[in-house]
Amino acid sequence: MGIDIDKARADTPGCARVAHFNNAGAALPPQPVIDAVAAHLELEALTGGYEAYEQASAAVERFYDAVAGLLGADRDEIAFVENATRAWDMAFYAIPFRRGDRILTTTSEYASNGVAYLQVARARGVRVEVVPDDADGQISLEALEAMLAEGGVRLVSINHVPTHNGLVNPAAEVGRLARAAGALYLLDACQSVGQLRVDVREIGCDMLSATGRKFLRGPRGTGLLYVRRDVLRTLEPPFLDLLSAAWTAPDEYVVRDDARRFETWERHVAGQIGLGVAADYAVALGLEAIEERVTSLAATLRDELSARPGVRVLDRGARRSGIVTFTVDGHDPADVKRALREHGVNVSVTNVGQQRFEPRGAATAVRASVHYYNTEDEVERLLRALPRPA
Ligand SMILES: *Cc1c(COP(=O)(O)O)cnc(C)c1O
Repeated sequence: MGIDIDKARADTPGCARVAHFNNAGAALPPQPVIDAVAAHLELEALTGGYEAYEQASAAVERFYDAVAGLLGADRDEIAFVENATRAWDMAFYAIPFRRGDRILTTTSEYASNGVAYLQVARARGVRVEVVPDDADGQISLEALEAMLAEGGVRLVSINHVPTHNGLVNPAAEVGRLARAAGALYLLDACQSVGQLRVDVREIGCDMLSATGRKFLRGPRGTGLLYVRRDVLRTLEPPFLDLLSAAWTAPDEYVVRDDARRFETWERHVAGQIGLGVAADYAVALGLEAIEERVTSLAATLRDELSARPGVRVLDRGARRSGIVTFTVDGHDPADVKRALREHGVNVSVTNVGQQRFEPRGAATAVRASVHYYNTEDEVERLLRALPRPA
């Protein structure tokens, strides 16, 4: 069953104002998310923050069921974290690395993750190794298998969809290889959750992080972490507080045994409620239908762009997402972004070179990221507003 685009747009106030192709940056939220966040802020203002929390506890708790439903997980495997970076950090820095352990990652790995690998490499003597790409540009499964076979891999840590390219990494195949080799598997799903069907059991990851504001259409300043129940207890969070652990005696504490061991007590309550609503909203539309719509509209945009002289589409990968990256000859990507903005078309500039394992390509590119509420007309509008190649 397809998505009712008119209804999706009527439900999205921003659609009346902008042609929004910056969904990999922050998508336009739907009305139910806006209402849920605004209502809770108002309740806090009128009754007090703690009192509002008591009244809204069912909506806060709903977050865990909604996200578990979205990802095919159980509610006790889900944590609410303030963004994807901290969610990923809480899992990554909890891994009890030993000197000589190997971490395998991808060429397209996100800059923040790359910095974290280096920090742990220096502090704990682990080795960070980049698995080469295959001919299509995503992580090479053959190379990964061979590198795993050398032994000593503690962690396979990759992105599902990178921030700066339209490729989709074969997350489930990576999961099978990591599992067979006895390595932990951490998946940065920041750009895939909300636009692609993501099922943690099918993928076989031990940990997965994502953000609220991107394709999931949730509030800014929200993120989520999934940790598989069987590995939860082997991961001691780098930070603890009075929610994640109980201080049981002057010299003793006990860490919670669910994924909320990665949370803190204080939180953006309205944001958590809003993110739960966003997850329910996506599930109600159907992730298969969303994926179908997003990837086909992105393919149309890529085809149209490629047909224009002087426009270079940079996306790689056998399978592609809603992220479309390109350059226009003779124009700085920042100028292209500005020109489109003047026509009410939002895109972003992605800094390809910020990813230091990334061996190729332009330093920056235009990123037009498509969501299901975008239309063929908006694609036309984007194309018409593009500066002529110089
Ligand atoms: C945006 C992004 C992140 C960071 O998400 P935040 O919510 O900004 O912390 C991590 N990984 C990838 C691939 C991203 O695109």
